[in-house]
Amino acid sequence: MQDAHPAAGTGEAPGENDVALADVAAPVPLPRALTYLVPDKLASSIALGRRVLCTIGSRRIVGVVVGLRRGASPAKAKPVLEVLEGVDLPDDLVTFLGRLASYYLAPIGEVVRLALPPVDREAARAVEEPTLFSTAKGVAARKVQWVTATDVVETSIKDNAARVLAVVRAHGALPLSRLQDQFGGARGTIKRLVEQGLVRVEEREAPRDPFFADTLARDVPPEATDAQRAAADTINAALDARGSGATLLVHGVTGSGKTEVYLRAIARAKEQRRGSIMLVPEIALTPQLVGRFRARFGDDVAVLHSGLTQRERFDMWTRLRGGEVDVAIGARSALFAPIKDLGLVIVDEEHDPSFKQEEGVRYNARDMAILRAHQVGGVCILGSATPSLESEQLARTGKATKIVLPDRARAQELPKVEVVDLRRIGPGPTGDRRLSVVLHRAIEATLAAKEQTILFLNRRGFAPSVRCEGCGELSSCPHCTVALTFHKKRAGVMRCHWCEYEAPMPERCPKCDSDQIALEGLGTERLEETLREAFPEARIARLDRDVASGKQVEKILARVREREVDILVGTQMVTKGHDLPHVTLVGVINADAALSIPDFRAPERAFQLLVQVAGRAGRGDSPGKVLVQTFDPDHHAIVHAVRHDVMGFFDRELRDRKELGYPPFSRMIFARVDAMDEREALAAAATLARAARAAHASAGAGPFEVLGPSPAPIAKVRNRFRFRVMLRSSSRERLRQGALAIHAAAAGLPRTVRVAIDVDPVGAL
Ligand code: ADP
Ligand code: ZN
Ligand code: ZN
Repeated sequence: MQDAHPAAGTGEAPGENDVALADVAAPVPLPRALTYLVPDKLASSIALGRRVLCTIGSRRIVGVVVGLRRGASPAKAKPVLEVLEGVDLPDDLVTFLGRLASYYLAPIGEVVRLALPPVDREAARAVEEPTLFSTAKGVAARKVQWVTATDVVETSIKDNAARVLAVVRAHGALPLSRLQDQFGGARGTIKRLVEQGLVRVEEREAPRDPFFADTLARDVPPEATDAQRAAADTINAALDARGSGATLLVHGVTGSGKTEVYLRAIARAKEQRRGSIMLVPEIALTPQLVGRFRARFGDDVAVLHSGLTQRERFDMWTRLRGGEVDVAIGARSALFAPIKDLGLVIVDEEHDPSFKQEEGVRYNARDMAILRAHQVGGVCILGSATPSLESEQLARTGKATKIVLPDRARAQELPKVEVVDLRRIGPGPTGDRRLSVVLHRAIEATLAAKEQTILFLNRRGFAPSVRCEGCGELSSCPHCTVALTFHKKRAGVMRCHWCEYEAPMPERCPKCDSDQIALEGLGTERLEETLREAFPEARIARLDRDVASGKQVEKILARVREREVDILVGTQMVTKGHDLPHVTLVGVINADAALSIPDFRAPERAFQLLVQVAGRAGRGDSPGKVLVQTFDPDHHAIVHAVRHDVMGFFDRELRDRKELGYPPFSRMIFARVDAMDEREALAAAATLARAARAAHASAGAGPFEVLGPSPAPIAKVRNRFRFRVMLRSSSRERLRQGALAIHAAAAGLPRTVRVAIDVDPVGAL
């Protein structure tokens, strides 16, 4: 800790020479922790991770202790006023947060905030100022009756009572409702057991978690496939070699049973009395996965998702902190779960871009998962059917061990993928080029066979742009350099997907007064409408951000699973790991869309989306078929995706990356600058670029590049002009020096300019 956050003020006029000091992360945007004196009366209660009351100037603040040491008292150091009860972060988490802050050059106070639960008013009572914590409203807890075994030894009881008692003893305690479920109404039996003093019935608060169910059907683990068994052997060996800090890359084709591998890994960690964290891209999109965890581990799983109230979140946090629950599942922020004796961190679908946080503290949960696991001597498992090139390179350089699951778990074939070359194949009966005759006929055949179709189109809204045919003018957002998307259902408005600006569709062109206004391109809303006209008898559902959030996603997926839907249309939300056994046709409307993004990762992203969406087909008994529509059938991302040839894609793409010096053969840092005034933004970016170049010049020769400043691909958002400076180097140390120089220079910029330093950036936009 001392290294990452040296005392502010060390080296100044010395005070007393050997006093107790606390480094405190405060809710202020200062890069470092602040140093306070620890008065004798607090010496026994203060500890790493505890919240303390301090002052900054005349303000009272609540901070978190991230370092404790003895040393010379900094000049003018103030004392810690009080150590607060309640929430305290575990030591290993505090250490981890310090490292994360240091790696991303992020203010420690903001990083610590990522790990704190909301806290009730009680604990924050002494504080007058707004604090680090939001306050939670009290909600009435739901009570559930639990049956607990006592120490009394039975004399003679009847069959049924003996069976009930055995189950209660096996669990220690369990909800009454679950016993009633299992024994078909055991109330009388339990009453007698209570009378004999063998069990107690008591009211407990139900876990405040919507995913919690009193009655849970436990599953029986399936017989593992050979590949799953081999995977489990490797993982178990890594877990058993405590302190090894291994990274394992599970590369398993879609449907190969990766989840079963994760479940077994967590079970092994549990046997060792160690806890686990599992990160998933988006919890709302993975209700099935959550269900499987619940079925295997019961309520010993904390599912952290955005639907929880602050109170529920706080409860979860407390139960994890106390070791009452030892598995946490959630999106990227579950990385900060206060698991006791952490032994395993799993990142499912590790290639998914959502693990990168793009605002506030810009961290990548995938990368930090490795750090978090290794720091406690635990194991990190990265799993995917389409691993990121970064992870593949870890395996190729011996920093990760690769485990391959080459086949689908239930002996299904991978679906057959065919290219539909839109340059040669014409439209079907709808006349719409994006619904080719080949795809149209395939949908018809699938409907006739009473099977299901998924159509993937990564564009929401009705039409991606609105153009005047008279003068060619495109309707664009007045606040952003972005075309407006036409949404029909929402009262026919044009909408900016970056700032939520909305305007009615004009009847005449504001520029040339023509009334020839055309809706260009195809979004999911329009595709849905086209399909309804073309297949009036089909039941059609749509899954994208405009129709679905949280619980709605679950409902739509449940309807698909129940076969109440024939055709599911959607954005990348349909590509995620859904296991829908009656889907036999997957159509990719426009495979080229992902390739046109101005980012060196565009081919990788396009490849991942294609393989993932193809993996939704043929997971049941009937074989699946995938049709990929494209104007660019020879692009290597498409060629390799069609053949399910992940290794071939890796070889080709890694060669390209190496030649061009892109990650994983180098590392990058972006300084992202924005301001209302375009010239001011550009000048600020130029200042940062100069600082980086100067730092490089003074460090001597070595691999290091500064590119820019250049306008961001989307040059203006919300009236702020955006520029960026890119640093690139194969030397981690070099890059860090450049970033530190930028960081220092940014402190001198006017307050009207915002700077975000993005270490290992993912998107180019
Ligand atoms: P992945 O996450 O690799 O795409 P899943 O874990 O969803 O794959 O598994 C695909 C399907 O195979 C699921 O329906 C799952 O229940 C089933 N499955 C997994 N392992 C086995 C096994 N050993 N025996 C039988 N079925 C299995
Ligand atoms: Zn016009
Ligand atoms: Zn806008």
